[in-house]
Amino acid sequence: MIIVIRDKATEAQVSELMDWLHSFNVKTNLVTGVHSRIIGLIGDTTSIDMDAVLAREPVEAVKRVQEPYKNANRRFHPDDTVIEVSGRRIGGGSLAVIAGPCSVETEEQLMKTAIAVKNAGADFLRGGAFKPRTSPYAFQGLGKEGIDLLIQARKETGLPIVTEIMDLSDLDLFADVDIVQVGARNMQNFTLLKALGRCDKPVLLKRGLSATLQELLMSAEYIMSEGNSKVILCERGIRTFEPETRNTLDISAVPLLRQKTHLPIVIDPSHATGISGLIEPMSLAAVAAGADALEIEVHIDPKNAWSDGAQSLTPEQFGASMKKIRELERFMRGKEGIAI
Ligand code: PEP
Ligand code: MN
Repeated sequence: MIIVIRDKATEAQVSELMDWLHSFNVKTNLVTGVHSRIIGLIGDTTSIDMDAVLAREPVEAVKRVQEPYKNANRRFHPDDTVIEVSGRRIGGGSLAVIAGPCSVETEEQLMKTAIAVKNAGADFLRGGAFKPRTSPYAFQGLGKEGIDLLIQARKETGLPIVTEIMDLSDLDLFADVDIVQVGARNMQNFTLLKALGRCDKPVLLKRGLSATLQELLMSAEYIMSEGNSKVILCERGIRTFEPETRNTLDISAVPLLRQKTHLPIVIDPSHATGISGLIEPMSLAAVAAGADALEIEVHIDPKNAWSDGAQSLTPEQFGASMKKIRELERFMRGKEGIAI
């Protein structure tokens, strides 16, 4: 962190500022030039709030030279994090596919979908039991019953399950869930993030509707700073001015996050586009961009789905897309001898 001192600041003010900075266990280096003075901070500055520095009397400007996140930062953890769940890997060179309905609706709907996605080669089953809906009058999810059905579907198919937690008070219900999802709307529910940080369970953290990548990484940091390093980041589209799609898929998030963090990166083309016809091309784009996983909504009868039918693939469509996805994955990994 570099701090520029105001021209008119007195020696006493600067010295008081330095004393305050030392309370954060960093070293300071005051450089006095002909026209200006700057202080360089050496050490871990993650706990120093830039706004608090700027609010100090003698400070003209502040600039971070290092990112404010440490645990999620590739600079300090150069190797990719690989998250293993029941023999499946997310991160580190494999492509995991998470598929299933937006919402768990009925036993028949979930079991049929689970078997279909398993047969098509999915690695994980998704399904919402607690649903964050824009309208309070829309289907809110089956709650505990939905989680029980997911557990039953796992028994039947062997697929580990991914489902969203909306409220900290439900945490106990997630004891037997393999991956806990934090939805876009809860990306900055810091109390929830901290509590999940104290669990030993992988967390699939979705990017907020209008969150920057740095904000996403800071939310991951909330979980990791409490001790849980099993965080998976998910790009699921962001709000832009374009109304043709539900959101705008920020595909550049994949290579950018890859540089900034060692955490695995998932693309959710369903929520990113809202249009079933765009799922396959966006999934292929995600694989080409180097995503570690895809999260895709699949429904046995999308027209009659209780939520997000327009962005859900039928099992047949999913099966056809999976063939192309796996083919591209092989190409990307150079398994066919074509290294790129
Ligand atoms: C979901 O995956 O079911 C979901 C609600 O997604 P998002 O939080 O990305 O809107
Ligand atoms: Mn959905």
